[in-house]
Amino acid sequence: MRRRRRRRAARIRRGIRVGMFACLVLIEASVGSAIMGARGARQEADTEQQQIAAAPVMLQMPEKEDGSGRAGQALRTGRKTLVQTLSGWQQDSQGWWYACDETTNYINGWATIDGKNYHFDREGYRDTGWTAIGGEGCYFDEEGIYDPDADSSMLIALTFDDGPSKYTGRLLDLLENTGAKATFFMLGRQVEKYGAETISRMNELGCVIGSHSYDHTNLKEAGADTARQQFEQTDALIAQYNNGEGAQVIRFPYGEYTKELAADTGRACIFWDVDSMDWDSQDAQAIKEKVSSSIDGGDIILMHDIYESTVAACEELIPQLQAQGYQMVTIEELAAANGYELKPGVTYFGFTDFEKERGTVTDEGREAPQ
Ligand SMILES: [Zn+2]
Repeated sequence: MRRRRRRRAARIRRGIRVGMFACLVLIEASVGSAIMGARGARQEADTEQQQIAAAPVMLQMPEKEDGSGRAGQALRTGRKTLVQTLSGWQQDSQGWWYACDETTNYINGWATIDGKNYHFDREGYRDTGWTAIGGEGCYFDEEGIYDPDADSSMLIALTFDDGPSKYTGRLLDLLENTGAKATFFMLGRQVEKYGAETISRMNELGCVIGSHSYDHTNLKEAGADTARQQFEQTDALIAQYNNGEGAQVIRFPYGEYTKELAADTGRACIFWDVDSMDWDSQDAQAIKEKVSSSIDGGDIILMHDIYESTVAACEELIPQLQAQGYQMVTIEELAAANGYELKPGVTYFGFTDFEKERGTVTDEGREAPQ
């Protein structure tokens, strides 16, 4: 799960989501002549992207963007070496992959193996957990086996802004004890104080690491240079405790953003559906009531792990919501379960049916709200 998340995070950062498809090189096995795939202008412009995207040589076409078709069969790259038998399941540091024969492996699509259905990602590793495929959320168990009956309607995402703080450890204890996951949008100035004791633990618990600027400046007012500087500074601070990686997702302070600023971050930017108003009440009972009376499946909940009252509220709220059937997942999992793979530079407002019906899940193809 964690490995998959890392791979995906790395892929999002590199922005190869679109480029990968644009440069698959097809070899017509019977003739042996290479047919060049269409190359996107974006890919031409980005050398790092070219290096990565040059990898798969396909003997059989993978699934299409709409999720139809089967897994492709790719000539193995040097990275993947057979460890067990000549063909079959193989594992390396990045996950499980499947050798079809001595020279090829499954990549990017569905494959039925021993009567079970699996899905392979664009690098040829089997997917686990919620995965967006052709605009649908599909669930795969820990062994990568597809579960057609998995239900995403009771998934919610808890998000905590403005931390970490001296209360974050207590919140992480709660997450660990309840199996709930969360997404943390942290301030660089707080990471300086509390990052060492919290960030690696967030990672271990499967939480998603986000950035909320260095010092909560209104970045729309401050402008692009300040925004860039604030996110860079915060990334560097987070990276100290996050295996050298910066934040995976972004939330702008006060939700004040422009599409240009969001694009500049190179990461998905996340809004919320339910505001717990915890900063206003700072009262555990009030926070609990506010959230439990407003919540619905698919919601993104906004809270702040800088108040003791918020953590105290969560200590009652999380078990209570779980008893009602809600499952607390990260923002990335909530997106995937609803058929969305988080894209860099795109702003997401929520994954509820309401957002889907209104067509306002993201700001793609429309102006940022004023
Ligand atoms: Zn904030």
